[in-house]
Amino acid sequence: SRVSPFLYPESLSKTESLAIVHLKRDLQTPTILKDRDDDNEGYSEGKVINTRFGSFPHTTLIGLPWGSQVRASKVDTGSRGREKKRKRDEVTETAGPVEKIAKVEPEQAIETPVEAKNEVQENGDVPLAKKEATPSTAPTGFIHLLPPTPENWTSSLPHRTQVVYTPDYSYVLHRIQARPGVNLIEAGAGSGSFTHASARAVFSGYPGNATNKRRKLGKVWSFEFHEQRHEKLVKELQDHGMEGVVQITHRDVCENGFLVNGESPKANSIFLDLPAPWLALPHLARSPPPKTLEDVSVEAPNGDVEMQEEFAPYISALDPCSPVHICTFSPCIEQVQKTISVMRRLGWIDIEMVEVAHMRFEIRRDRIGIDNGNQHGLLATPANVNEAVARLVDVEGTFKAFHATGEKSEIKKRDKPNPNNKQKILEGLIERKIYKEGNLVHRVEQELKAHTSYLVFAILPREWSAEDEANAKLKWHVEK
Ligand code: SAM
Repeated sequence: SRVSPFLYPESLSKTESLAIVHLKRDLQTPTILKDRDDDNEGYSEGKVINTRFGSFPHTTLIGLPWGSQVRASKVDTGSRGREKKRKRDEVTETAGPVEKIAKVEPEQAIETPVEAKNEVQENGDVPLAKKEATPSTAPTGFIHLLPPTPENWTSSLPHRTQVVYTPDYSYVLHRIQARPGVNLIEAGAGSGSFTHASARAVFSGYPGNATNKRRKLGKVWSFEFHEQRHEKLVKELQDHGMEGVVQITHRDVCENGFLVNGESPKANSIFLDLPAPWLALPHLARSPPPKTLEDVSVEAPNGDVEMQEEFAPYISALDPCSPVHICTFSPCIEQVQKTISVMRRLGWIDIEMVEVAHMRFEIRRDRIGIDNGNQHGLLATPANVNEAVARLVDVEGTFKAFHATGEKSEIKKRDKPNPNNKQKILEGLIERKIYKEGNLVHRVEQELKAHTSYLVFAILPREWSAEDEANAKLKWHVEK
């Protein structure tokens, strides 16, 4: 059966497969590679990706090892449509065949500097090159061709909603113990960012290699109540070969819970990215909620109120044989408070709230300062080049002097150390006051994409009946 390229990427890119075109950090675009010009845009080279870095015919992207760097081709990107195609053909006839620069080895360095800055559109789409901005002949830059992964899908997917980003979902998947064989409930699915990451986490292995008979098949049970979003995700999951790992249902989970065609997902892990997760929690219980008089009574034809005797047996959406780990994702603290309050009433334990404040720190040495020999440490920045050079010479001498206090010194006489200085120099070094070392400073790099929300984690212990207790005791005695 078909295996998703997200779960088992092939070693080479091929036609009709999904690829991620990496233009630069924070700018990637997904594309289905086609060697034919299906959209009839007038390219003999198959589909063409036009960017500010140049034009990339799909034919130059097919059959390459993932990670390959590909140089822009000489394609007349200004020619679109039939009329333009005709004109372009005339040009091509005289100019000879379009140059293709394919199969560039991954390690091959291309030194073409790329000055142009790409604009990231709000919807996350890759900006097409403005026609006038794209030179019609000379290649201007390069891209890298990447296989689809949940991470680069998250950075490049078409946004239909806010999405959960990699720093958040990696932590969430770890905390809710999503692993091969797990049944994971996800609601709502939104743009499918979390869906892809969780599908990989629970995926139990290539079906063709199913030699292990005890292998439990993991699955993502995904729910989305917005019709168009649901439809788009169904299509996307089919295109990505994930339909066997993700079961998506069009459903308002707060109203109608999590059973699918009367079947229990038997969930071990749950992720709720909903505006009101506390309304969905009662559907994630091990036993039916306590009944009100209204629930158990019916009105008889004579107007009397009669008590119902039989109810359909309760089917829990949870795995009865394991503890269940849940995470809810909410932007406001008020939502967190309501969620936690309902969790407590429903028997969830180990409730904890976490906020992932993911930042990248740049650590580096500060600008040159100098040990001025007193306890105030650094002198101000040198006023001019001469002063800077003088200080450098001074400090070089200090360094040499310090090292010269060792036994095997090869320094000249004038550098001979004053032993009284050694302790001072050492202190300076330890406190980073020698300017050659510079002060260690850090600054926060441009913020990583992480939709900051509060993550509430909790655990619902496994079901444990009197019978389980008796069996466990029996087993313990037998084993002893
Ligand atoms: N986690 C998603 C991702 O990473 O792409 C984004 C989820 S988005 C923020 C929230 C989604 O929940 C929306 O698509 C919304 O339609 C859906 N939703 C809201 N209430 C719902 C409900 N009661 N049942 C099912 N889906 C619901």
